Amino acid sequence: MPELAEVEFFRKQWDPGLGRKIAAVQLHPRKRIFRGSDPRKIVEHLTGRRLLRSHARGKRMLFEFSGGNWIGIHLGMTGKLRTEPAGFRPEKHDHFVLQQTRQALVFRDARLFGRVRFHHGRTEPAWWRAGGPEISSDKFDRAFLNGFLDRHGRAPIKAVVLMQNGFSGIGNWMADEILWRAKIAPSVLAGALSSAQRARLLRETRFVASESLRIIGPNFSDPPANWLIHQKWKRDGVCPRHRSALRKGTIGGRTTAWCPRCQKIIIR
Ligand SMILES: [Zn+2]
Repeated sequence: MPELAEVEFFRKQWDPGLGRKIAAVQLHPRKRIFRGSDPRKIVEHLTGRRLLRSHARGKRMLFEFSGGNWIGIHLGMTGKLRTEPAGFRPEKHDHFVLQQTRQALVFRDARLFGRVRFHHGRTEPAWWRAGGPEISSDKFDRAFLNGFLDRHGRAPIKAVVLMQNGFSGIGNWMADEILWRAKIAPSVLAGALSSAQRARLLRETRFVASESLRIIGPNFSDPPANWLIHQKWKRDGVCPRHRSALRKGTIGGRTTAWCPRCQKIIIR
């Protein structure tokens, strides 16, 4: 599932269409990615408009068009954005296509967990403004983190790091990477984290988020070899620090990998 850095990568795939008109909109109106929006209105309002700019926030994207038209996109599990040459003909899973003179902007989603939302208005939609602070912003600080951990104090920290209104854009692999770097066992209850653990959690969340954006965002490059992600999905994955075997289990409903040596459960 795309996390913040992959979302940023996909957002930029439509950059060739910036400043250019939408000549035609092609979509599959009955697909559930359009739930909550009227596909006919999307066609009616976007045709003839220009793509002005785009933004990414956590796992969400917002595309702004002239005339006060806004499209929100969530990639879900398998969604992808790409650009195709002019004259492109959509295939089965290309559910939303903006045809321009020089290229076509394509949203493809095989499993349909993604979502396309439409808003018409002078200012950005309320659903875009909702949600927690961006990890890169000053608002994602120790006070916010403390409040969030204590509000979800009885949940395992792994589950809490996946909550989008607290850890915007963090998904399964980044959560494991953060907890491994912060030396926190994934099953520890969020409310039980010590002050030192909270400081490390804040620091490593910022680090993994900014480094992933820097490395993956521009061209989907691989993170450095000493990151946990390269070991996480291997059958015999090892801790990049001391090469001992990783443990695996399901925590917060998600497959989790951790190093029992780095991530000890501390009884206070
Ligand atoms: Zn280790």
